[in-house]
Amino acid sequence: MSFYDLYDQRLSAEERALVGAAGDFCRGEFNAHLLESHTQGRAYDVSWIHRWAKEGFLGLQVPRDFGGHDASFLCKVRIAQTMAEHGFAAAFAINNLQGSVTRVARSGSEKQRAEFLDGMLSGRTLCAAAMSEPDGGSDLGTLKTKAQRVDGGWLISGTKSWVTNGLIIQSANLLARVDPVGAEAGDIASFLVPLTDGPTLRREELVMPGARSFRLSCLIFQDHFVPDWCLFIQPGQALKSSMASVNAARVHVAAMCVASARAALSEAVGYAGTRQAFGKPLLGHQGFGWELAEVSLRLEAANALVLRAAIAVQAGTAALTLAAQAKKFAVDVAVWALDQCQRAMGAAGASADHRLAMLSSETRLAAFGDGTNQMLLDRIAKGLAKEYGCSPVQKEFHP
Ligand SMILES: Cc1cc2nc3c(=O)[nH]c(=O)nc-3n(C[C@H](O)[C@H](O)[C@H](O)COP(=O)(O)OP(=O)(O)OC[C@H]3O[C@@H](n4cnc5c(N)ncnc54)[C@H](O)[C@@H]3O)c2cc1C
Repeated sequence: MSFYDLYDQRLSAEERALVGAAGDFCRGEFNAHLLESHTQGRAYDVSWIHRWAKEGFLGLQVPRDFGGHDASFLCKVRIAQTMAEHGFAAAFAINNLQGSVTRVARSGSEKQRAEFLDGMLSGRTLCAAAMSEPDGGSDLGTLKTKAQRVDGGWLISGTKSWVTNGLIIQSANLLARVDPVGAEAGDIASFLVPLTDGPTLRREELVMPGARSFRLSCLIFQDHFVPDWCLFIQPGQALKSSMASVNAARVHVAAMCVASARAALSEAVGYAGTRQAFGKPLLGHQGFGWELAEVSLRLEAANALVLRAAIAVQAGTAALTLAAQAKKFAVDVAVWALDQCQRAMGAAGASADHRLAMLSSETRLAAFGDGTNQMLLDRIAKGLAKEYGCSPVQKEFHP
């Protein structure tokens, strides 16, 4: 049984074919391009997103009636993993774009779907979530960006930071505090904001050396007009709705971490099977083999936890604890495993001939997006009594 079999067994034949097609897409030219652009300190070319869209993958979870594949959460997870084996940042960024399309298809008004959906599916109107701000990402409830009511719409003012794909998107799903609208004054709403650069919108790249493929950017708004019909989630409901998407995102980010580390382990094992030292292959040295054995052990444990969390999300449960556990554990294991695999390959592991340095510098950023370790531990701690409180057996013996 292979590493991903327990996921694949739960997919339909059509979904397995999609995972296969995604694998074909990622191997070869795309794979080489990701490594080459990383080595040259730039992001992969946007044309690859358009090619991905042409294969229909931006609409992976979009209902069929709207032109998508209507794929399950587990299928989305497997496709994200398939790409994360080749490049973590590209997989994270493209997956974020897919998530925005799904949200508009599922929760958008008729007018919003009519205006945005075709462009989103084709890649002409890329859209990303803009929640974090320079003064705080963890504590989203304190966000300062405001949406001021004016005739026919809203004026958005404020700065959004760390927006994945922020340099290339044509629209954003943005959280802002409404100001002032009667009883709703101060409540947080979300807006689908068309982004036209000019006097009301500026972008500034947040340069992440070794991880430019996230295309992280600040979006700086000053009285940026959005028409009424762009209100996406009503004031007072948007924060809760965004946190629900973040919860599911934790699971596929965890799944991508596991996949990147799995690819690194394969590369290290392949290398160590042929590289000779002291008269035999590296893998033939007991102390060396034990180190990679330990990597395989933690990776299998992370994969099992991620699968459990993914099944829970797919079943429609909130899975708050499991999602937080999966992300915290998978990120920590992946960051450690990538480092171990790089060391196992000696200097070659850090060279541009292999992708471990790229996977390592990109995957470590997974520790911030969709919840830092401390925030995840906080989440897990809040669920302790519910998840692990006194069991019926304990109650019998300790009434
Ligand atoms: C690669 C990447 C992609 C991202 N993509 C997006 C995106 O697409 N859209 C978007 O809106 N944002 C995005 N972000 C932003 C991300 O969500 C934030 O970085 C994250 O929420 C943390 O916020 P912060 O960086 O402001 O850190 P802060 O919130 O300032 O936290 C700093 C440190 O303090 C700790 N801390 C904070 N509060 C507590 C507490 N109560 N107890 C203990 N420790 C605490 C944190 O865990 C962290 O270690 C991305 C970030 C990265 C790195």
